[in-house]
Amino acid sequence: MSFQYRTRLSDPCAVCAKVTGRETDWPVVASTTHAVALVPSRQQHLGTTLVVPRRHVFDPADLADDEATELYLMVRLMVDATMSSAQANYYHISQYVGAPGGEPIDHLHWRVEPRSQTPARKWSSIADVPATPQAELATIAARYRGFVAADPARSAMTAV
Ligand SMILES: [Zn+2]
Repeated sequence: MSFQYRTRLSDPCAVCAKVTGRETDWPVVASTTHAVALVPSRQQHLGTTLVVPRRHVFDPADLADDEATELYLMVRLMVDATMSSAQANYYHISQYVGAPGGEPIDHLHWRVEPRSQTPARKWSSIADVPATPQAELATIAARYRGFVAADPARSAMTAV
């Protein structure tokens, strides 16, 4: 069954602007040929990263196999980074697609969030979360880049 909520929410796409470097307000943590991990401005849980394909894709079915593989490896790396350096005792990965889910981004992404509250905070739309100061985003990105750089295998994977 295809998505019924296919919409063009943002044109031009805000994520594409970050991935191509036209906008630099979401610091890049790591990148590969097909995948990028960034620190988005809206940090509902401080330490959140977004893992996105470089190419504008809405539907996971539109990913080539090598893109899907790199994206999964990047999600795995960001989970490692999150759990190693964000003082979380668990993590949450979410993927909401389209406006009906409260998600303002139509560029395929995985949101990797550190969590420490039990029970978890009630769900709210990311669109309602205020922007985190740029300096705090830079600090989060630097911490995760340090985690990646500390291991030669992690560094080699993201040497793009
Ligand atoms: Zn895009």
